[in-house]
Amino acid sequence: MSLPINPPPRMLMGPGPIDADPRVLRAMSAALVGQYDPAMTAYMNETMALYRTVFATENEQTFLVDGTSRAGIEAALVSLLEPGDRVLVPVFGRFGHLLTEIAERCRAEVHTVEVPWGEVVPAELVEEAIVRVRPKVLATVQGDTSTTMCQPLAAFGEIARRHDVLLYVDTTASLGGNELLTDAWHLDVVTAGLQKCLGGPSGSAPITIGPRAVEVIEARRHIEAGIADAGDAADTPRGSRIASNYLDLAQIMAYWGPRRLNHHTEATTMLWGARECARILVEEGIPQAIERHRLHGEAMLAGVRGLGLEVFGDVAHKMTNVVAVHIPDGVVGDRVRTAMLEDFGIEIGTSFGPLHGKVWRIGTMGYNARTDAVLTTLACLEQVLRAEGASVTAGGGVGAAREVYAS
Ligand SMILES: *Cc1c(COP(=O)(O)O)cnc(C)c1O
Repeated sequence: MSLPINPPPRMLMGPGPIDADPRVLRAMSAALVGQYDPAMTAYMNETMALYRTVFATENEQTFLVDGTSRAGIEAALVSLLEPGDRVLVPVFGRFGHLLTEIAERCRAEVHTVEVPWGEVVPAELVEEAIVRVRPKVLATVQGDTSTTMCQPLAAFGEIARRHDVLLYVDTTASLGGNELLTDAWHLDVVTAGLQKCLGGPSGSAPITIGPRAVEVIEARRHIEAGIADAGDAADTPRGSRIASNYLDLAQIMAYWGPRRLNHHTEATTMLWGARECARILVEEGIPQAIERHRLHGEAMLAGVRGLGLEVFGDVAHKMTNVVAVHIPDGVVGDRVRTAMLEDFGIEIGTSFGPLHGKVWRIGTMGYNARTDAVLTTLACLEQVLRAEGASVTAGGGVGAAREVYAS
């Protein structure tokens, strides 16, 4: 006999997922309505408007792709890239590699510019590669959680526009906690997810698509057999058919647009959740939410340093909402993570690739970008580290964080 769902109480202080805001979970327990119910249409339109504010854009095409953040990334790349198209990917961590992998599956010709983990990519390097490669798309991550770095994007946008290249950005890790100005920075397609600074569960991928990208995607719109109506007859695709039905942004735009053309069955419960995430953020104010992430991120940074730990990477370019901490010599990283979880119910993150076993990643994002969450995590980490034989400054973590809050 299985028991009802009753997960252990946890505080998720890793790089995501984080604890969902209770208001989001309550919204997700609301009843369902039909796909074409006017109430549903109204909620979908409100959700589009809310995410325009979150993405700082006027883009009409701003909606949700059903699926985790990766569904948004794949939808963007498979809808923009035709086989043989050239794409340039600046790689500064794990998620840059993910973009290259997805672009390869789109059968694009993939070029990269790479920098060591812990750094961001200089704009000159990207411009030089654009001139050399002449790509159709520049595809980048804003915040790469694997390294905690936050790539400055304004210069990328200016360069992409000047060379007539489309710019795609994955902002899953950074949106809501770090500045992101879709229109002002000339970003053509931006995608995200809920489970980082937006304070929701994973499973919905907000996306915004600017006019230049809409044109490219619309040119590839092939009508699905059996659902064409009179209005469709005039559409003559000029590009090759998008290699995914589920993630075909031409169809998904028509589905969210005024004609509400049938595509998938909306994941209504995720829509309720995604709408509430954006509503909470807009209610707080985007600049205020970013400032809150900056404050608690700074307190956590000061706190781990106050314990005598060292921080990984170029701190000047660190995302506000996550810090990578060197595991001290002689300490086994996973033993500390296990003790944090088992003794205190707190989850902190491990790392991938070149950083595996070398750093922990501690997040302060979304619902958990709070004073009590920061102070509790630091107090418990001190206890666990001491028990594992590390030399830590007594009270140094909480003390340094409190100084940040006091100033
Ligand atoms: C966390 C994260 C994702 C997560 O993708 P999922 O499909 O939701 O697991 C994607 N991109 C970046 C940059 C991330 O940090």
